[in-house]
Amino acid sequence: MKNTLKTIFTAAAVTLFLLSILTTPATAKIFSFNNSVSDDLPAGTETAFNREFETQLANRYPELPKGQRERYTAELLANQNFKAITTTGDKVAKLKTTLMPILKLFKRENYTEIAVFESSRPFVATYNEFTIVFSTGELDILTDEQLRGVAAHELAHDIFMKDFEAAIKAKDFAAMQQIELKCDFVAAQISRTNGENPLAVVEAVKAMRRWLAENGIAAQPNDSHPEPAEREKALKAALKNLKN
Ligand SMILES: [Zn+2]
Repeated sequence: MKNTLKTIFTAAAVTLFLLSILTTPATAKIFSFNNSVSDDLPAGTETAFNREFETQLANRYPELPKGQRERYTAELLANQNFKAITTTGDKVAKLKTTLMPILKLFKRENYTEIAVFESSRPFVATYNEFTIVFSTGELDILTDEQLRGVAAHELAHDIFMKDFEAAIKAKDFAAMQQIELKCDFVAAQISRTNGENPLAVVEAVKAMRRWLAENGIAAQPNDSHPEPAEREKALKAALKNLKN
């Protein structure tokens, strides 16, 4: 009796092991957000990316409490560097509608705040983790698709927040640049999920740089961001590795 049970258990163990071999994908390369872009991001498939993306969203920093967000928003609206900044009105409402598919894919439709201020110079940045600030110039020069690409890049930063903070603390500019490239990649993949051009995010960056050149403004040296051409090259290489 004892031996029979032992045989059954052994057979069961062997079967499970065989099953695990059979269900392992033929390619050993699995998508990981920890890989570097220049290394082998993204080794894997779109399915693997989407699964990993969901996991990463679930593990983001917790949302800031409402009271704290309200204080931050009050501070932002009082910031004199942003002329006529607002989180309400027609321009903000229109922009929020434009960006909604992306906010939904990042599960931020009820969290992320959108702000717009008056300046012909194209500008976009995230403040206090939950407000994406656009200049009117940014809205003037970018297409809706490019605006969504830019928003996806900003929202992707949440995923790499811990690494980014560590890089800032260590003044590790190479690591910061790597994170920018990863945010471009996530943005590109999310654009594609939304049925749009994955290169929209780098097209937006190039359009912003073009505006500066046309207006005789020298681009500020920025150690934390790779040059637009480098971002485009890295993104194209990364997208090429991603299998359907
Ligand atoms: Zn960025």
